[in-house]
Amino acid sequence: MIEFTKDLILHFSIILSLGFMYNFLWMQKRSIYKKQVFKAAILATLLLTMALPVRFDGGIQFDLKLIPVFIAFFYLSRTDGFLLVAVLLLLQSLVGIERLPVTAVNYTVILILFISIERIYKDTTINKKIALGLFVYALITSTRLAAMINSGNGQDYLYLLVFSVVSFVALSVSIYIIEMTNLQLKMMHELHKAEKFSAISQLAASVAHEIRNPMTTIRGFMQVLQGERNLNDNQNMFISISLQELDRTQTIIDNFLSLAKPNTGSMAKVNLSGLLKETVDFMRSYSHLANTELVEGIDKNLCVKGDAHEIRQVFINILKNGIESMPGGGSMYIIAKLDRDYVKVQFRDEGVGMNQEQLDRLGHPYYSTKEKGTGLGMMISYDIIQRMRGRILVDSEEGKGTTFTILLPFG
Ligand code: ADP
Ligand code: MG
Repeated sequence: MIEFTKDLILHFSIILSLGFMYNFLWMQKRSIYKKQVFKAAILATLLLTMALPVRFDGGIQFDLKLIPVFIAFFYLSRTDGFLLVAVLLLLQSLVGIERLPVTAVNYTVILILFISIERIYKDTTINKKIALGLFVYALITSTRLAAMINSGNGQDYLYLLVFSVVSFVALSVSIYIIEMTNLQLKMMHELHKAEKFSAISQLAASVAHEIRNPMTTIRGFMQVLQGERNLNDNQNMFISISLQELDRTQTIIDNFLSLAKPNTGSMAKVNLSGLLKETVDFMRSYSHLANTELVEGIDKNLCVKGDAHEIRQVFINILKNGIESMPGGGSMYIIAKLDRDYVKVQFRDEGVGMNQEQLDRLGHPYYSTKEKGTGLGMMISYDIIQRMRGRILVDSEEGKGTTFTILLPFG
């Protein structure tokens, strides 16, 4: 009994050390060969647990070799999992060749099981991962129990149960440590990105601000020139075109500044119907160039509270993305109507669509699948709509198309 407890504690610590090892390696700032070192650690764990199996009074022995295989498979790569099983079988043939066929069959089944849950495992939450671990353990324990009863050692089931619970707890704690490490790394990464983004946008805003002053001077002189009497028709035309272009540049800079420095203050009543129609008309020439068509059904007099510049920016971003998602051409449908207390604006395209992973990343800074994309459009749009107390819903199917639905409080 004491031997058994000792063995259990030993195995528990060996397995836990894998989790801590992962945390230690991945948190290092310096570039060390973390993957290689971790692989070596997994291999060492496998050797240790096989060399020092837990023995019962009844004579049967168990070890925890499944756990290193589990961790190698799900946290390194499928190939590493396979390789580790190959090493495991090699070792088994050294320590007890008579058990090799059974082990080989067991681990083939386990690998098939792992492959079939791999996709689910990778996209799920920590709790569900632990539940999947429990599922694997429950399966294995029941087959072990069946084997025990078969070999006439059924009375030892209590040992098996304790052993399984302990190893399951060890596995769960290791999964938890590894997942927490990954989460922490991801958060650090995002924080870093957010900092970089705010630095860049502040810089850009100050540059845009600086450009405004000389432009005002140029505009002033051009206006003086326009007042000259002895100009010919051509000169007059050039000057008025220059003034128009200057105004256009000014609007672009203003738009940009409102993006870089969102002015949360202005919440005026905006006629969304007019604004949307105007924006769709504005985007029409762009959509024709891309061989796509914009079809609209916009109800009249839909009003919301917000900043017209910002709302237009959201519409432009979504329209542009929709048009860009249809490289082979197609139609985009824009519908706006009242839905209870909300103004509902829907943009449906027939483009390439997005899978779950892409949907999850949508709206994160710099997430773009386009060669010349900035990956900022959706982030800014989410931000603007959120500040207006609205919501953006996305429904997408790969190869079929995407629907963006914006809900804004009517007012
Ligand atoms: P950008 O357009 O510069 O890439 P966005 O923030 O506007 O940045 O969009 C981020 C990414 O989201 C795009 O690169 C694209 O992969 C995806 N996306 C956005 N809208 C659509 C859409 N309507 N159809 C398919 N993918 C889209
Ligand atoms: Mg875009």
